[in-house]
Amino acid sequence: MSIDFLYPEFEVVRNMDRCITCRVCERQCANEVHRYNEHLDKMVSDESKCVNCQRCVSLCPTRALKIVKSNCQLRENANWQNDGIREIYKQAKSGGVLLSSMGNPKPLPVYWDRMLINASQVTNPSIDPLREPMETRVFLGKKNVKPERDESGNLICKVPPQLELDLPVMFSAMSYGSISYNAHASLARAAVEMGTYYNTGEGGLHEDFYQYGPHTIVQVASGRFGVHEEYLAAGAAIEIKIGQGAKPGIGGHLPGSKIVGDVSRTRMIPEGSDAISPAPHHDIYSIEDLRQLVYSLKEATEYKKPVIVKVAAVHNIAAIASGIARSGADIIAIDGFRGGTGAAPTRIRDNVGIPIELALAAVDQRLRDEQIRNNVSLVVGGSIRSAADIVKAIALGADACYIATGALLALGCHLCRTCQTGKCNWGIATQRPELVKRLNPDLGSQRLINLLTAWKHEIKELMGGMGINSIEALRGNRLMLRGVGLTEKELEILGISHAGE
Ligand code: SF4
Ligand code: SF4
Repeated sequence: MSIDFLYPEFEVVRNMDRCITCRVCERQCANEVHRYNEHLDKMVSDESKCVNCQRCVSLCPTRALKIVKSNCQLRENANWQNDGIREIYKQAKSGGVLLSSMGNPKPLPVYWDRMLINASQVTNPSIDPLREPMETRVFLGKKNVKPERDESGNLICKVPPQLELDLPVMFSAMSYGSISYNAHASLARAAVEMGTYYNTGEGGLHEDFYQYGPHTIVQVASGRFGVHEEYLAAGAAIEIKIGQGAKPGIGGHLPGSKIVGDVSRTRMIPEGSDAISPAPHHDIYSIEDLRQLVYSLKEATEYKKPVIVKVAAVHNIAAIASGIARSGADIIAIDGFRGGTGAAPTRIRDNVGIPIELALAAVDQRLRDEQIRNNVSLVVGGSIRSAADIVKAIALGADACYIATGALLALGCHLCRTCQTGKCNWGIATQRPELVKRLNPDLGSQRLINLLTAWKHEIKELMGGMGINSIEALRGNRLMLRGVGLTEKELEILGISHAGE
């Protein structure tokens, strides 16, 4: 007899005095946790299927439900903790690689929380953002550092192609297939409204979304899914994806069960076939090879669009970024080890890569030292959680930030970390039509607009407090940051002083 060693991770607490047996929870749960039992004339739960997505809790009309983390503990010691033991049991049962989604949940340092922002007092007065103009606009792309003149002495005003952002935030790559049509529609409409960009990820561009092209970054990943001439021409910029923070060094895998209908057509692969993008680009083994792809894409789009190269934050990221800056790329996107994903091997997600804060500081410093900082813009992502994280990232040297998990939270994601199953009860990481329609793109885009509007206000307030009235004046201004509880080495890499200094 096979015994399942695992006690459910969550418990469903149903207040039977409040439950009116309306069966909303039963209808709403794609994991089939809730069921009406006719003999007992009451609702019962199969807790082993519960992922704690909170859909039933949110929709129960009488607030009869609560999902709590089980306090049933395995026998732990300092070496063997609950999660580690559970993983062994799961692998002993399945014989497979453990899969997870969203970002690294391990208790590793979050450096954003160990840096504090300066504020003006007495001299260099602060600025009131309600009464004085504050510039949150940024331009991403190569900057001309030296004025150039033509033969008649007139200034040459031609600048390389730029992305113009009304605030220093963009929606990071999430492919159609990993997330739903309605989630993409929400992101695209919000990007248009807020004067920023969303990113196709590696799933191609659905024909309905070509209308949002001027606010779209089209991605070219190793699988080349959905990449063709019109696709490249449709976007405002092209992103070559080399790596992703949640799974550096490995490729992508969207299971065949999600390759249905429009997703298969958009990716240009047969229905039901697994979409596996290889770990490397098979035509890139050097910076010279990368340069060829960068220039092929520029050539294909008549040198009108900036090219972004996206890499994961790994150990020698500063040297890698220096190479990318010399490859002809206009923008470097760096994704930190806390970055989210629709599916990744748990072991990779939790153990590979480095924190984005350290990567960013190292890259910005290296590019400055080599006097090529203005050849590229830097965009960072990988768990940007608030306006404060954005302000800190810019002070550390970023030009703008990518957000993805934060955007999904705004759409209703409850971080249940089971996107890979395709049963997202919130209609986000799913292709099941009955689940997709739960996310209304009108409401979704409005929630994203609200989030970015709120962050824009907060960015202005934080800058005003520092006596700074433009993102440009904040960029790389590390004097505005102080560290708390950091070692000398960490402070050195971040290039900031300790609080009190
Ligand atoms: S949604 Fe709430 S009230 Fe309705 S059956 Fe479920 S627990 Fe009972
Ligand atoms: S997107 Fe959906 S499945 Fe993924 S973590 Fe959020 S709520 Fe869960």
